Amino acid sequence: LSSMGVLGIKENISVQIPEEVMEMMKPFRPSESNYRNVTKRLELDMNMGLDPAHRDKACVKMFPSYVSKVPSGKEKGQFMALDLGGTNYRILLVTLKGNNAPPEIIESTYAIPEIKMSGPGEALFDFIAETINDFLKSKKIPDKTISLGFTFSFPCNQKGLDVGILTRWTKGFSATNVEGKNVVELLGVALKKLNLKVSCKALVNDTVGTLASCSFEHPDCAIGLIVGTGSNACYIEDLSKVLTVDKTALMKNAKFIIINTEWGAFGENGTLEDIRTKYDRAMDKNSLHPGKQIFEKLISGMYLGEIVRLVLVELIEKKLLFKGNLPDAMRKPYSFLTKYMSDCERDPPHLHYSTEYMLRNELLVNTIDSLDCKIIRYCCEIVARRAAYLAGSAIAVLINKMNRPTVTIGVDGSLFRHHPSFAANMNAIIKQFKNPKCEFRLKLSEDGSGKGAAAIVAAHSF
Ligand code: BGC
Ligand code: MG
Repeated sequence: LSSMGVLGIKENISVQIPEEVMEMMKPFRPSESNYRNVTKRLELDMNMGLDPAHRDKACVKMFPSYVSKVPSGKEKGQFMALDLGGTNYRILLVTLKGNNAPPEIIESTYAIPEIKMSGPGEALFDFIAETINDFLKSKKIPDKTISLGFTFSFPCNQKGLDVGILTRWTKGFSATNVEGKNVVELLGVALKKLNLKVSCKALVNDTVGTLASCSFEHPDCAIGLIVGTGSNACYIEDLSKVLTVDKTALMKNAKFIIINTEWGAFGENGTLEDIRTKYDRAMDKNSLHPGKQIFEKLISGMYLGEIVRLVLVELIEKKLLFKGNLPDAMRKPYSFLTKYMSDCERDPPHLHYSTEYMLRNELLVNTIDSLDCKIIRYCCEIVARRAAYLAGSAIAVLINKMNRPTVTIGVDGSLFRHHPSFAANMNAIIKQFKNPKCEFRLKLSEDGSGKGAAAIVAAHSF
């Protein structure tokens, strides 16, 4: 078992990896039954989140999105979309053509200054309104009222399609005076100060936008998954199973509703302690939101590089790497970017082009030998594979919950998109854990926060 992946997938583990390194990495390699237990506990947590009597105590909140119609590609019209909470902050003008033709999209990316992410919330929303103003002017968009789909990738307790209370910030955000407030209203206030004729019609989680956008090409898309800066998934649930929804706020004749699981919070009550390592705990302790988003911290791009850095630093201290010399650049938290993990794994098994390039040019290490490269690659592989197996285990829970003959899973996010073996590892574990009667496929889905959010607005305006 030790030279094979837990699922029998052959690893590129060279015999030359020292025994001590393998030993150190062992806690990052849960057994198949550990993963299976994760699926059982997640299922219980999800059921708790759906149950009005237990929801308060549930880690996994299962928020109704109030999206009860999946776009068909027939939607038409011009909409604005905002994308806040991922790697980039973007503003988009989306023209849906109505006949499944690709939409016309004009977009601008803006950098959110660090100070806006952590300062007063009012300043953050004022900044958003200013960038919208800039966008409308620079793109010469006619001065008439335009409907907006706001992709806001944070946990919101939605009371309707256009009402959502931010329950907590996650990832790199911590602006004050926003938690507990309706973010659509906060945006409205900021837009009004500038007299902008933009009217927010839908608050959309990025997973929901991804599902919507994927459904254009794949009508059987029923799960939206993000593995990027953060991680989360949504799925289509029968309305009869969702008792936490305000039916008066739903569209007429709704039969189902998309549930935003917010699975990132799974494990906050201690249910993932058999999976977590001392490195995970150390990373969490010094993170912006300690004790929160435990499952997300095992999976997503914001955190994996930092976990690997902590491992490598210990290897250096034990003189198992870089002959015991800790490069200055690696002393700083988050200096080992998650992107490096994708780079390392992209090297062919016997060569280390990218790893060496990264070490020399980014981390400024001068004396590297091929064993160093191999060890680093090995550590990256193990940490990324655990992430993919966990995300895949969780997807299997959703597949089994829906129990449809076929499901397409629309996936987006920087880590999934760029990591060379994430998709394959996810596929392998999903196959292992899904009901054999359910077929599935993972589809990279672009444009959830543009096309997807716009189509949701269109499909729900009547
Ligand atoms: C947020 C989710 C979001 C995910 C992916 C998490 O931190 O809580 O709402 O979908 O990141 O962006
Ligand atoms: Mg995104």
